[in-house]
Amino acid sequence: MSLGLGASTAAYALDWYVADRTGLRAEPSRTCVGCRRSDSWSALLRVVADQTEDGRPTRGATILLPDPRRRKPGRGAWVHPTPECFELAVRRKAFGRALHLQGPVDLRPVAQHLGIRHS
Ligand SMILES: [Zn+2]
Repeated sequence: MSLGLGASTAAYALDWYVADRTGLRAEPSRTCVGCRRSDSWSALLRVVADQTEDGRPTRGATILLPDPRRRKPGRGAWVHPTPECFELAVRRKAFGRALHLQGPVDLRPVAQHLGIRHS
């Protein structure tokens, strides 16, 4: 299991946070749907499907929402809050697969949350 402590420690504060914590106490880990590495869940962003309409997608695409507080009910997909992992997951259609969704997904709310310009 790789915790990514080697290659990418310097880039941003979140990595420092994780590296600092992993030695002390094991947190529940989740697998990022982008890079497929498992990481402490506090380092990952939870993404859930908005199923307000009895689980039926509105206007064709299921809207995916960021769940930074990890409190929304239902199945969640986990991704590092970075453009790299987000785009990887988009390219692999990993969000829909992780959430057992069929058809297109609308990731704009998640992209917006991450500050990514996503078409
Ligand atoms: Zn990742």
